[in-house]
Amino acid sequence: MLTEMTITDAVEGLRQKKFSAEELTRDHLKAVGQLNSRINTYITVTEEVALGQAKVADEKLASGDAPVLTGIPLAIKDLFCTRDIPTTAASRILENFVPPYESTVTSNLLRDGAVFLGKTNLDEFAMGSGNLNSAFGAVENPWKRKNDDAFLVPGGSSGGSAAAVAARMALGATGTDTGGSIRQPAAYCGITGIKPTYGRCSRWGIIAFASSLDQAGPMAKTVEDCAILLQSMAGFDPKDSTSVDRAVPDYRAACNRSLKGLRVGIPEEYRAPGMSSEIEAIWQQGIDWLKEAGCEIVDVSLPHTKYGLATYYIIAPAEASSNLARYDGVRYGRRVSGKSLEELYANTRGEGFGTEVKRRILMGTYVLSAGYYDAYYLRAQKVRKLIYQDFMNAYEKVDVLLTPTAPSAAFAKGEGEHQDDPVQMYLNDIFTVPASMAGVPGLALPAGLNDQGLPLGLQLLGRPFDEETLIAVGSAMEKAANFTYKPAIRSGVSL
Ligand code: GLN
Repeated sequence: MLTEMTITDAVEGLRQKKFSAEELTRDHLKAVGQLNSRINTYITVTEEVALGQAKVADEKLASGDAPVLTGIPLAIKDLFCTRDIPTTAASRILENFVPPYESTVTSNLLRDGAVFLGKTNLDEFAMGSGNLNSAFGAVENPWKRKNDDAFLVPGGSSGGSAAAVAARMALGATGTDTGGSIRQPAAYCGITGIKPTYGRCSRWGIIAFASSLDQAGPMAKTVEDCAILLQSMAGFDPKDSTSVDRAVPDYRAACNRSLKGLRVGIPEEYRAPGMSSEIEAIWQQGIDWLKEAGCEIVDVSLPHTKYGLATYYIIAPAEASSNLARYDGVRYGRRVSGKSLEELYANTRGEGFGTEVKRRILMGTYVLSAGYYDAYYLRAQKVRKLIYQDFMNAYEKVDVLLTPTAPSAAFAKGEGEHQDDPVQMYLNDIFTVPASMAGVPGLALPAGLNDQGLPLGLQLLGRPFDEETLIAVGSAMEKAANFTYKPAIRSGVSL
């Protein structure tokens, strides 16, 4: 099955004519056909578009003028606007929205020859940590616990993208990360993901959740695959005033850098009280690998870490409440009429948004309201600055930080306190949110399995715009981890 390949190998194989882009795409479409009704990773499958793109890719490969991603089948999170292809944000309110334009990130991937298999499921408007908040139903994690058939969540919000890559239903995928939505699902699904520095990838054409935090990034089987995708996705875009005009380095070349003398920081605040022993053990394993690779391990402190989640859950909902004001039944998507304009708004938003989105809008509107703005929003902004400063102080002593990605392995749908208590759900992002608040880049990679056979992830955090160091360190850890395990549900395996 060609679905087992890495992007790196597929790029090579296509050029050596070992198989065609059409064959590669057909194998993936077959996998999607076999698995999608079971694990619900794609909201929209674009079979005809994909086959058309594959045909063009084969022509380009034959002519010898083929950019790097030519013929590589990818899954696109359904938060990226794709021209003439439905884009829902997993919300009823955008159920029938077909954008007349293409996001910059997906345009970049198309420019480089990628094939789009379809649009992947997510938490509605990217709000969630389990992909349980989608209007199109939950996504099932392709991994299974030993001797147990429980429905595990793939993480969120980019749960569909993570599950699609893990189940071999795409060679790679796009995700977005506002507080952890690339890194945490990557950890739960045993794949690799990068949240780039804020400003590295254009946000233009990505449906906004929290504009000062949202960042697009790649998800794939390996660090090198992520490097190839990021190379294409990143870059300055005059259409996004927060995208940064800075040359995109050769990320792939960073995979083979030596780590000799590199200083790796271990932030003491991430040793959260009550941390599970399996997370503690995998973290120690990562430290040992990096020592063996010639790194110096340094204890560091990020003293404001404990305020990360609290401030995130002020700032993200505040921005969301303002971003989501545009869904009023007049300009976009769904409209539910009423006797007055006010009723039209209320009916449209009442029916169109799910519970979590409404909760965020309420929180956000509250913290921005007169009288509370100073007490909550302004204060959170000040604390955010302190969180940023913590990282900058640490980066004077070390080149990169190593932490766990998430406080646990994938949890089961309907099991434990996670589903009923939103605050429990928010705690899943405890290790990912601080880097989002600071805008620094993060890479999550699978490091091993727990006793139940589920993947556990480690996270590397770097200096602003130093994705290369993350890629270098990630590549070395990947070699040490030799994570060759595969999920129970994947293409080619009968269900
Ligand atoms: N889980 C976090 C939230 O619900 C982060 C989501 C994200 O990064 N998009 O807000």
